[in-house]
Amino acid sequence: MPDQKAPSCKLVQILGETVHPGEHVTLDLQVARLYTRTTVEIPVVIRRAERDGPVLLLLAGVHGDEINGIDSVRRILQEVQERPLAAGTVVAIPVLNVFGFLAMQRQLPDGRDLNRFFPGSPRGSLASRLAHALVTEVLPAVDVVIDMHSGAARRHNHPHLRYTEGDENSLALAEVFDPPLIMKAPIRHKSLREHLVSLGRTYLLFEGGKAGSLDEDAIREAHRGITRVMHHLGLWDGTPDTERGAVRVAASKWVRAPHAGLFHPLVENGSHVQEGMVLGSVTDPYGELTHQVRAAFGGYVLCVNTSPVVNQGDALFHVAF
Ligand SMILES: [Zn+2]
Repeated sequence: MPDQKAPSCKLVQILGETVHPGEHVTLDLQVARLYTRTTVEIPVVIRRAERDGPVLLLLAGVHGDEINGIDSVRRILQEVQERPLAAGTVVAIPVLNVFGFLAMQRQLPDGRDLNRFFPGSPRGSLASRLAHALVTEVLPAVDVVIDMHSGAARRHNHPHLRYTEGDENSLALAEVFDPPLIMKAPIRHKSLREHLVSLGRTYLLFEGGKAGSLDEDAIREAHRGITRVMHHLGLWDGTPDTERGAVRVAASKWVRAPHAGLFHPLVENGSHVQEGMVLGSVTDPYGELTHQVRAAFGGYVLCVNTSPVVNQGDALFHVAF
């Protein structure tokens, strides 16, 4: 007969393995074999404290060229190695889309965006199989997911969090994370967000910097927010950064190029702009024409296009309000 008085220990099972209190393991998520016969394995790093607590998944590299998140997760793992967790478990997948990471591209080799294939299928496309492996082998064990992203190659995102519209838990945790801006996100069909919401899990998506580069500001913001969440969940017993108070925005729109030409942004990413304000200019190469780009509405600049040359209609500034 088991001792009824013994405290029950949370069962943490990942990739078919039971992770016991105090265990530090790295398991491999196996998804495919390449035409070179090489098997593709995705490392899943698990750090479990002696004391029970929530399971936090730190996910990065869903899009293979978004490196800022990979480095944010790496920093947390390094710190957890030096100062063990107070309670609970951190599951870290710094690079989910290893194919894209190797090729420095957003998609999988078949051109598919992994974040449109959840919950996936074991007999579907490569994206679908990878989504299915994550959904069946890792996600059942986790309580909270922080998913790290960046803007596209020439879209620099000011650090912000996207919480799930209508989900009070994700809004509350976004406020704990305390990024410069928090924005509600609709539930997109077949996204990781949709799947986690269907399971009742809390999901936060961080955006910062741009793809193909390491942006210290974005990495620091992500790291600051993750440690604040870890402290809130009881995983980390250090002293978190003092709360600054995030600005909450409800919607956003793009300001587009009125003409083609050389693009000169004038406002800083993250700044607040008023309706009618000049945000930048587009010039021809001959010194004759200068077209001002004005804000059609006021709000916070969330993303700036960093292309030196733009076409008419290109998205230049993402403004949230
Ligand atoms: Zn992304």
